[in-house]
Amino acid sequence: MDKKERKETRQTKDSLDMSLFKWRIEADGLELLVQGFKEKKVLGRKCHKCGTVYAPGPSFCRKCLIDIQDVVEVSRKGKIACYTVGLADVRGNPVEEISVSVQVKFDGADSWMLGNLEIDDWKKVYVGMPAELVLREETNGTLADIVCFRPI
Ligand SMILES: [Zn+2]
Repeated sequence: MDKKERKETRQTKDSLDMSLFKWRIEADGLELLVQGFKEKKVLGRKCHKCGTVYAPGPSFCRKCLIDIQDVVEVSRKGKIACYTVGLADVRGNPVEEISVSVQVKFDGADSWMLGNLEIDDWKKVYVGMPAELVLREETNGTLADIVCFRPI
């Protein structure tokens, strides 16, 4: 493990108000993503002006604020950009099964995708850890094709 990557890891011991975060899923980018799953590919979009690659790909570049249509395939492998370990439920009670949510930046992409990491010991997770998107054996082009992310 790269020590520099480990130093950048931050932990919070307090509770976070998740209502402060806003999430938006664009149907168009999501549709492109799941269409790619049919062929076990991760499809995104590339901005023809600045070259930024989004996977999943929105229909507009967030930097240039222009519509983007160029479809690109990125790797199913990437690196963990950040993660959250679920040790307790919303009331603070310890959970029986610890979960690890990750944001993974696929190789060839400039954005991140959220998912669950399947790992035997959450203490092994670190920012920069190589991980791969695992899809079902038979894919149908839906979000249910996603099994998890796994360390590689
Ligand atoms: Zn752009």
